[in-house]
This record gives sequence, structure tokens and C-alpha cells, in this order.
Amino acid sequence: MSDERLISIDRIWARVRGRLRQEFGESTYRSWIRSLVLEEVIGQRVTLAAPTLFMRDRIVSQYGDRITLAWAAESADTVNDCLITVRSSDEPVIEAVTADSNVTKNSLSLEPKAIRTMVKKENSLEGSLDSRFTFDNFVVGKPNELAYAAAQRVSGSDEVLFNPLFLYGAVGLGKTHLMHSIAWDIRRRDPSRRVLYLSAEKFMYQFIRALRFKDTMAFKDQFRSVDVLMIDDVQFIGGKDSTQEEFFHTFNALVDQNRQVIISADKSPTDLEGLEERLRSRLGWGLVADIHPTTYELRLGILQSKVEKLGVVVPTKVLEFLAHKITSNVRELEGAMNRIAAHATLVGRDITLEATQEVLHDLLRSYERRVTIEEIQRQVASHYQIRVGDMHSARRSRSIARPRQIAMFLAKQLTQHSLPDIGRRFGGRDHTTVLHAVKKIDELCIIDKQFQDDVEFLRRMLET
Ligand code: ADP
Ligand code: MG
Repeated sequence: MSDERLISIDRIWARVRGRLRQEFGESTYRSWIRSLVLEEVIGQRVTLAAPTLFMRDRIVSQYGDRITLAWAAESADTVNDCLITVRSSDEPVIEAVTADSNVTKNSLSLEPKAIRTMVKKENSLEGSLDSRFTFDNFVVGKPNELAYAAAQRVSGSDEVLFNPLFLYGAVGLGKTHLMHSIAWDIRRRDPSRRVLYLSAEKFMYQFIRALRFKDTMAFKDQFRSVDVLMIDDVQFIGGKDSTQEEFFHTFNALVDQNRQVIISADKSPTDLEGLEERLRSRLGWGLVADIHPTTYELRLGILQSKVEKLGVVVPTKVLEFLAHKITSNVRELEGAMNRIAAHATLVGRDITLEATQEVLHDLLRSYERRVTIEEIQRQVASHYQIRVGDMHSARRSRSIARPRQIAMFLAKQLTQHSLPDIGRRFGGRDHTTVLHAVKKIDELCIIDKQFQDDVEFLRRMLET
């Protein structure tokens, strides 16, 4: 693989994303496209990875054609030759890699293959357990020590100590890693115990399929014999009433039989949206352990451990630079490290700070553009000539409440903060207030062009 080709593919991908960003607008771009990872390019076959099955499906159905067009345009391929596959990171990688094993020799994998060995499914419900996701590979620091300790207690004990164990934290902070670690550990200690791990999306799909084929008994049966049930990312069943209902029954049945249930979500039970009250409260009965955003120390520790495993030489300066710059989550941090390592291996040059900045320039740029809620509040307040303090105040006159709603709206669009979190930063308001603001501003933008221009103007100011 030539040096130029590698760099040019990275460039193409950066330009494709630039196009899509322009085409779809900022909020769609951020919600759907930004999380796509370029995984593999074999000739004209391009594989992208989406974080979840749900996102994969949505991206393929809504944006698939546009992505293909953009890629064809930027790579000077004809559209007919260009085949874009989007897979979800939830799925086993094996299929994607071995589907065409005779051509993988010439392929350009941006993530070293060696570290992506996956374990084959044991049955259809079990999903895949990632062999890298073990306790040994989990770096413990202040932000995750409680969740880690809880996970170890659950897997190390034959009794059910707390039910359920509820792990929560923002995306990419290690929830799935901890759940897989528990599964591996339990299997190692006692292979006869039946552990079932599946994502809430998969639970939902299976359930809907069972309904369609009138086969709900078989669906229910699959859970009966389980000793430990883990459901990952339960926030996805919010709002899906019949799935929730089924989940609630499955959950209760297992807890009644003293089987261990382990749940993860991106929010605490109290903050989960669209969940029935009895389920919400039931989820909080056991031990609720949160994973906080990473600290600089933890990020550095994770990078060091990663470098050891990859067996590449990376100067401390580079690690410190990455730990300092890439603060969002561990997944992005790992992604950056993998890209640098892959680049160095393929190109055969040392990893330097300059090379790092070059390889990651698009990623780093997107970080520099990230806005904070405080900046949004300041800009919006000054634009409407109100005091920044009014963003937090209880005053309700329209001349103040409207700009406050605009600021909430922009905070939702331009930052990664959750609705409850945004509410807290606007004088401790409830997440429903933020949701209301977002809807209101959306509506106003549709019926009032002048208003929309105003909001657009503010958004551009904040983004540049
Ligand atoms: P989540 O499920 O919370 O979105 P994941 O468990 O998928 O996050 O973690 C994202 C990536 O970061 C995984 O590759 C995982 O191995 C890695 N990771 C997260 N936290 C740690 C940690 N403390 N030590 C080592 N790797 C971690
Ligand atoms: Mg996860």
C-alpha cells in the first residue's frame, strides 16, 4: 500500500464528510454522519462502521445514497462501481472481514485486524462477546472505579448481591466493555452458568419478530433458563411501549427467580426518557453505578495500555498530546490511536507529534470547533441584549424566556450534553423544559423566516 494512497483515502473521507455536512446541515451531520468510522477500502468497496444497529439502519435508509454519491464524486469513481457498506459496531466483525478474504491482502484496514478478533456467536440470542473486553484490559481510574468494583463483585459472587446492577454513563466510556468482562469472567469461573448478553435493540428486534411470526412463547422461553441476563443500552426501548412491557415482565420473572440482571444505559434510571414509571423505579432498586467522563490521567493510562497491546512505539509527548486533546470518550481516543498506529505500520515511519497532527487533522479540527454551553449562553444573551444571568434566572417574560429557549435549543444542537444536563445548566431546570424549548424553537423556525435567520446567524457565529 503506497503512502500516497493511504493519505489520499483519508483525504477523500474528510472531503466526503465535508460535503455531507454541507448537504445535510449541521445537526443532521452531527447526529448521524459524524459518528461513522471509515473502516476499510478495498478497491471501490468502502466499509463504514456505525456505532449501533439502529444508527446503521437509519443511516443506510436515509443517507445511504447520498453517501455513495459523495464518495463517488470525491474519489472520481463512477457511482456504479462504488459500493458503500455500513455495518454496525454491535455486529461481529468476522462477517465483514471474511466475506472476501481473498482480497483482504490488498485491503486498507484503518484499524489493525489483529486486535479485532471476535468470538463467534454460541447461539442466536447470545450475540457476540468481544474478546478484548475483559477486566484485564480495563483501565481503572477515579471516573469508573465504582462501576468497575460493582462489576467485579457481581461476576465474582455466586449470590445475587444487588439486582439489577445498573451501569450508566455517556457513550464510549466503557459500559459494554464492563458487561462483556462480567460475561467472560462468569464463564471462566463456572462454564455451566448461562449468561445471556444482548443489546436492548436486539431484544426489541427479536421481540418484534416473535410477534410477527406469532412465536412469543419461544421468545420468552429463551430467557427462562438464563442465570445472568445483561441488556445493554436500554435507553433504546424508551417510548416503545410493547417492548417495554415485555422487557418489564422478563425482568421481573428473572428477578423473582433470583437470577442476576445487569442493565446499562446512557442515563440514570431517573433521567431515562420515555420509560414507564414502574419500570423506571424498578430499575433503580439494585445498585446504580455511574461512569463519569474521563480525566486526563485515565486517558493517559488507557493510551499507555493500548500502546503496549498494539506493540508500537509512541513517544510520551504524543500520548500526552492525545490525552489532552481527545477528551470526549474512550472510543474516540482509541480510534485516534488506532489510526496513528495503522498509519505508522503501513507507511513505515516513526510516530511523531507532527505526523500525529497530520493524520488526525480532521478529527482535531472538529474538536476545536466544539462549543460550550457557557459560550452559547454568552453569545445569545449578548445578541438579545439580556444579562447572562437571565439564562439561569426564573424570569418568564418573553423577552427573556425566548432567548433562553434559543440558547437551550442551540445547546442541544451544538453540544453533546443530554437534555437533563442542559436543564441543570440553565438554572436547574427540568429536562422536559429543555425538550419543550427545542420543540418550540423548531416550530418557530418553520413558521417565521426572520426568526429562523436569527437562529441560523447565532449558530454560525458559535461554530466559527
Ligand atoms: P460504551 O458501551 O459505554 O459506549 P464501550 O464499552 O463500547 O463504551 O467502550 C468504548 C471503547 O473504549 C471500547 O473499545 C473499550 O474497550 C474502550 N474503553 C472504555 N473504557 C475503557 C477503560 N477504562 N479501559 C480500557 N478501555 C476502555
Ligand atoms: Mg456500549
